[in-house]
Amino acid sequence: MRWVPHTALCASLAVSSALASVATPKPARRAPQTSARNAPQKATRGSVGYAQYVRTWHTPSPARSAPTDTAGRPHLVLYSINTNDHVALAPATEGGGFSASDLDRASSVLREPSSGNQHPIEPRLLDAAYRVQTHFQAQEIRVLSGYRTPHGHASNHGAGRAIDIVVPGAADADVAKFARELGFVGVGIYPTSGFVHIDVRARSYFWIDASGPGRRNRERGILGDLAQKSDAAAKARGEHCVSPFFIAPDVDAALRARGLSPAVTPAPLEDDDTDIDADGVATGSGE
Ligand SMILES: [Zn+2]
Repeated sequence: MRWVPHTALCASLAVSSALASVATPKPARRAPQTSARNAPQKATRGSVGYAQYVRTWHTPSPARSAPTDTAGRPHLVLYSINTNDHVALAPATEGGGFSASDLDRASSVLREPSSGNQHPIEPRLLDAAYRVQTHFQAQEIRVLSGYRTPHGHASNHGAGRAIDIVVPGAADADVAKFARELGFVGVGIYPTSGFVHIDVRARSYFWIDASGPGRRNRERGILGDLAQKSDAAAKARGEHCVSPFFIAPDVDAALRARGLSPAVTPAPLEDDDTDIDADGVATGSGE
């Protein structure tokens, strides 16, 4: 196989994952359950009930930390607030690096709860999540929304490149501040809804959206200078892995031979986050 220039790790993980699990959608394996950490059923924006859920999401579970490997390095723990599904993944390095089978396991946890649809996850997104988790020494990354089936518009959520998260024990503002330094990321902070959106993209873009769940998005771009600086710093560190789903022609042919369309890298999107409704599930029509 011939690859376009990328870090070898990112490219090989991305493609092996795409080959392994590009056949979507898959049915949900289990029905959503309820728990103390679940998304609210009836709470609405600004209500006491919703604020309580937001607090619960941000509160660490007592006496629990992420499992570690034999060298003491923590695993990435992804916990889906909507399904209670979770997975612990061993990274290859301090910066992440997850095997193709682990990427598949992550894709399952990040599936869309309402439909059960899932999508191959972008490896750099998991690396970003891992760096956030380890920076805050968090027990897990709690995911409000991962994959969302596109409904007539492109979205990084619909490409396995975005997650809406809460880091237990950390303030959203601090999570967003750290994530903005990663380079080649989109970071949106949602102070009313109570989460941080992180995606991976070719050029960083940061925004704030004070709209609440189920309401129309009101994004406002912020910190444009920092976005440029963060990308320049990441580039200086030798990080160029900005389009891992860009696949060389011979791999495209291999995908076609399997009856699968090659993954397409969409143009970078800015206002690409749909609202989540009161159940914490994407409405798909909020844009
Ligand atoms: Zn989002």
